[in-house]
Amino acid sequence: MSGLEKLWQAQNKLKEYKQVKQQAKDESVLPVLKAKKAELEKRMQQLKSKKEQLKQLEKEIKSGEMKCSSLTDKVKELQSELYNGEHNNPKELHGFEQKLKQTKEELSSCEDRVLEISQEQEDLSNAIEEINARLTNEKNAYKEQVKEYEQWKKEIKARQEKLQKEADKMMGKIDAELMELYQLKSKRLGDIVVSRVEDGSCSGCRINISPMVLKEIKQAQHKHITCESCGRLLFYKE
Ligand SMILES: [Zn+2]
Repeated sequence: MSGLEKLWQAQNKLKEYKQVKQQAKDESVLPVLKAKKAELEKRMQQLKSKKEQLKQLEKEIKSGEMKCSSLTDKVKELQSELYNGEHNNPKELHGFEQKLKQTKEELSSCEDRVLEISQEQEDLSNAIEEINARLTNEKNAYKEQVKEYEQWKKEIKARQEKLQKEADKMMGKIDAELMELYQLKSKRLGDIVVSRVEDGSCSGCRINISPMVLKEIKQAQHKHITCESCGRLLFYKE
């Protein structure tokens, strides 16, 4: 392999390394992940407050049931007062009747209220279950995305390091004189200093190479022929 071909290969490897290094810098997914995390946290907070609301309703049901139970006792007491035969005074009996009627009404509205809260509690409990399931799915999807990003980062870093080592090794095998020329020219030409002749033209600038120059390139052993248009070192391979 000629020195120029080795340099051409090393230059391509270096170019590939630079491209991968650039790709590795892409962190456009990070703000997306950050926004998703914030959204999930917000919804987890909302779920937490719904769970607190549910606890509150359960407390209300309990205290409502206690109130109903004591009203039931009171109804029984009043009924026993009315029918135990100990009270004969009509005014007194009327008083008990009034009190019984009032207590029964209180009990009825207490039971209605407990039923109402129980329905509310059931609806909320179902809603929480639904939100919980959805949120779990979304949290898993988010974790998967984070994992994918970290995996990609790890892989591209490894690829970058491998390419860097390979490029360094290849560049290290170029003889000093050619290396000096390459470095000098790369200041102006960038990554592509050695240009392969393809279909009779310079692949660096696409200009046609005259048959005479082409013949010269093919015959050249230690002489470097440069493209008249872009100044790159021309390299020919069948
Ligand atoms: Zn050229």
